[in-house]
Amino acid sequence: MHWDVIVIGGGPAGMMAAGRAAARGARVLLLEKNESLGKKLLITGGGRCNVTNNQPDNKLFLKKLPESSKYLFTSFAQWNASSSLTFFHERDMDTKTENELREFPVSDSAQSVWDVLVEEMKKYNVAVQTSSPITGFKLDTEKHITGVQLKNGDILAASSYILATGGKSHPETGSTGDGFAWLSEIGHNVINTAPSLVPIALSDNWAKKLQGVSLQDVKMSATSQPFDTAQGKHETRTGKLLFTHFGISGPLALNISNAVRELLQYGEVTLVLDLLPAMNHKEIDIALQKIYLEQAKKRVKNISSDLLPASVLRAASKLAGIDIETNCTNVSKEQRKALVQLFKALPLHVSHLLGVNKAIITSGGVALDEVNFKTMQSKLFPNLYIVGDVLNINRPSGGYSLQLCWTTGFIAGNSVPLSLSSPT
Ligand SMILES: Cc1cc2nc3c(=O)[nH]c(=O)nc-3n(C[C@H](O)[C@H](O)[C@H](O)COP(=O)(O)OP(=O)(O)OC[C@H]3O[C@@H](n4cnc5c(N)ncnc54)[C@H](O)[C@@H]3O)c2cc1C
Repeated sequence: MHWDVIVIGGGPAGMMAAGRAAARGARVLLLEKNESLGKKLLITGGGRCNVTNNQPDNKLFLKKLPESSKYLFTSFAQWNASSSLTFFHERDMDTKTENELREFPVSDSAQSVWDVLVEEMKKYNVAVQTSSPITGFKLDTEKHITGVQLKNGDILAASSYILATGGKSHPETGSTGDGFAWLSEIGHNVINTAPSLVPIALSDNWAKKLQGVSLQDVKMSATSQPFDTAQGKHETRTGKLLFTHFGISGPLALNISNAVRELLQYGEVTLVLDLLPAMNHKEIDIALQKIYLEQAKKRVKNISSDLLPASVLRAASKLAGIDIETNCTNVSKEQRKALVQLFKALPLHVSHLLGVNKAIITSGGVALDEVNFKTMQSKLFPNLYIVGDVLNINRPSGGYSLQLCWTTGFIAGNSVPLSLSSPT
């Protein structure tokens, strides 16, 4: 059988592309190497799937992707965050907006997103072939893809090919960077891939003991030691932080990890955490005095407050040199001042960044000036379309990655030519 389109990779970008092409009447075959589709999609957002960032203004959305925004304006004019939300809402998947415009299914389950995509493909008769690893493209001499080769030796042919094999992060989900290798082989420029948006391992044992504690809206700066060698390279961000058994994760840690990677080239990196960015030193000192007064008979280790979780209060008190077994009345003014100072600038010492198996995305991918963003067509091979994490688009955490899958997947599916005999 000769297909109109073969989609390689059954992640979010591939499924969106396949569904859209089939809805237009194309005969679509989707090939996936795993035994099931969308393995990575199902672990997104801790299993809840941050499906997009609910920023309808393309200018503001793309401000978060400064290096690639000039390419993406034309794509987002066709399909943006609002288009994605309409798509899911019209298919009975309601969503809710959380902090920083992160959008989640109301079901709090990535399975809901998976269901919509799979249902859409079923509705339009996409032929899905799982357990079908592809090993590469077949070409003719005319810069034209003529087929894809399966591991079992079979060659399958179509008029167009949509490459949606993902990046390299969490390789156990199937994203092993196969598409990067094939694109390089056929002459595309693939920028080196590196893990991006990764959790950060710390050398501070006290911080590891806070495993499971999360802090909303804290502020963190990354600096290299000694400070002057990084020539002003220094980044500050605000967001949610999660302490883990190895150090820190959560949106704030992930989003600052790329700056940490850069700073590590200059030497040791220290993260300075402002636990209470909305308060100044004086306000915190007054709040602490009140706590100590109201809970004067309690030991420091037993005090509770709305300021911070008790475990964080205890850890910071110890670091400030306060004996946590002592009564609050025994805390000296100097110790209290030291604690205030730590609340505003708690140092966390970076041991290392976690590797590709723990990364949310990989930076790098196919050079953007080799892709036509109106259609997602390769500029080198006109019957090849490139979507999702294969593209060299750096972005923060917050639903941006999946939105790029919806946008590029939709456009590719919407642009592949239909054969004359396809049903319309
Ligand atoms: C832990 C984690 C949490 C995340 N959470 C979020 C989130 O909440 N929100 C967000 O926006 N983004 C999130 N991301 C990022 C997001 O998951 C990715 O950007 C997205 O999955 C990329 O989609 P894709 O379709 O391009 O590639 P993938 O999802 O990587 O899919 C590629 C598919 O291609 C298949 N494939 C690969 N090679 C071959 C081959 N040789 N033959 C056949 N098939 C092949 C793979 O098996 C896979 O199924 C998260 C990522 C991780 C790792």
